Amino acid sequence: MTTERPDHLPPGTHLGDHLKVEGLVRLSEGRMFYLMNDNREDRPTRRCWECGHPDTPREQAECGNCGAPLKDRRFLVSARWDEERFEYYQRFSRLGLKHPGLAPPVEVITHEGQLYSVIQYNGEGLMLDEAAPLSNQRILDLAQRVSGTLAFLHHNGVRLQDLTRANLLIQPDNTVRLFDLEVASVNGSPVNEEQRGHEIAFLGEVLSRYCDVGAGSLCSFLQSVREGEYISPASFGRAVEKRFDAFAAESYPSLASGMSDVGLVRQLNEDNWGWRKMSDRATLYVVADGMGGHDGGEVASRVAVDTICQGATEREQETPMGLDAMESLLDEAFQTANNTVKEEAEQRGSDMGTTLVAMLVLDGRMGFIANVGDSRAYLHRGEELFQVSRDHSLVAKMVERGRITAEEARTHPHSNILLRTVGTERDIDIDIFRVELESGDKVLLCSDGLWGEVEDRDLESLLNTYEDTRIASRELIRAAHHGGGKDNVTLLVVTVE
Ligand code: CA
Repeated sequence: MTTERPDHLPPGTHLGDHLKVEGLVRLSEGRMFYLMNDNREDRPTRRCWECGHPDTPREQAECGNCGAPLKDRRFLVSARWDEERFEYYQRFSRLGLKHPGLAPPVEVITHEGQLYSVIQYNGEGLMLDEAAPLSNQRILDLAQRVSGTLAFLHHNGVRLQDLTRANLLIQPDNTVRLFDLEVASVNGSPVNEEQRGHEIAFLGEVLSRYCDVGAGSLCSFLQSVREGEYISPASFGRAVEKRFDAFAAESYPSLASGMSDVGLVRQLNEDNWGWRKMSDRATLYVVADGMGGHDGGEVASRVAVDTICQGATEREQETPMGLDAMESLLDEAFQTANNTVKEEAEQRGSDMGTTLVAMLVLDGRMGFIANVGDSRAYLHRGEELFQVSRDHSLVAKMVERGRITAEEARTHPHSNILLRTVGTERDIDIDIFRVELESGDKVLLCSDGLWGEVEDRDLESLLNTYEDTRIASRELIRAAHHGGGKDNVTLLVVTVE
């Protein structure tokens, strides 16, 4: 997304003939989502949503054309501003396709450089608001439903540019519909067979994000989907069908939850997170906060997370499980991530880099926490929160030397200057902390988009309040928004059994 996000419409703003803004509900990369209703007191007439008849006098209870009762309706409206792509979406909406897995726009409005796609709102939720993980059963349901919908779109000549979790709308009954699609082309005939695998790789990417850290076999299956193993929705659908019962039968105690959010100001999410079950004894959790602007920070943080998960897993298989061995494994994985990001940066001629904070849990009891930069690890024990990692930032150094207070550091003009990052130097110094974990402990890994907006005592009280890690994750993101949402927010909450 190259163009700037426009200002959002304030509550009460009128749009089109009949809509009034209730409020902005969510932002994603390239989109703003609003709730709107059609209760426009300024209009002498009302529109009938049954037959489309536009002007029944306001005081009448029923449509002047079809006689249906006229009720207020609420709408979920997505706004986009990539004008060069508007035409594809308009052509798609004119097709008027109907399918149970599709939430088609009831209206498409273009206004001042933005395209507003309007769907009726019946209490649906956005996938963007869901923290990982989802149960295997739910991921598989989602896979089947979305692949069926993609097959329908292909049959009707519609290809998508991509598919992200922002395109998934969760119905009150937990089923999913696609909406607000990024349409690549609309043709009069079905999509060519060799072009039908494109969206499936994106779907694999979306679904992987929600895979439980313990769900090893489903995760590897989805990894192959991401890598383009399936050439069409139909072949993917068959593969899911074949594995459905086996995957759905596996269940895991959901001990960790993760979530990443673009925030309320930034247009790009340059944060990333990941988790990986390395073996029966060891699990790795990672949060990275990339920097380097468009196509830089996002790449750096993703490469770092992928490399460290991959590297640690490979090494784990050849390393004895001693505590020192675990520490050097983590250290080496960081070094590899550093080199990989640095090479990527050199190839792209970019100055990108990333922070990295990771926790390796051995036997559910020993936590090795490693960090570079200012993403943090906190330990929540009893009802108290302790910061485990130390920020490698200029302001943290100034606080250490007594030149400013911790409070002043939060708002200091140089609070974003990092003294160490991954991907910018040949060698990096890594801090590693050992924490003997106790039952009921929680560990929070997060980017500065969380701790910069929510003070430690509020993080503590949120973790005290929400026992369920998925709910805690959502509430923490919400708190970051409440604090201003000035930066991307990413977090992982890990509970110790
Ligand atoms: Ca950040």
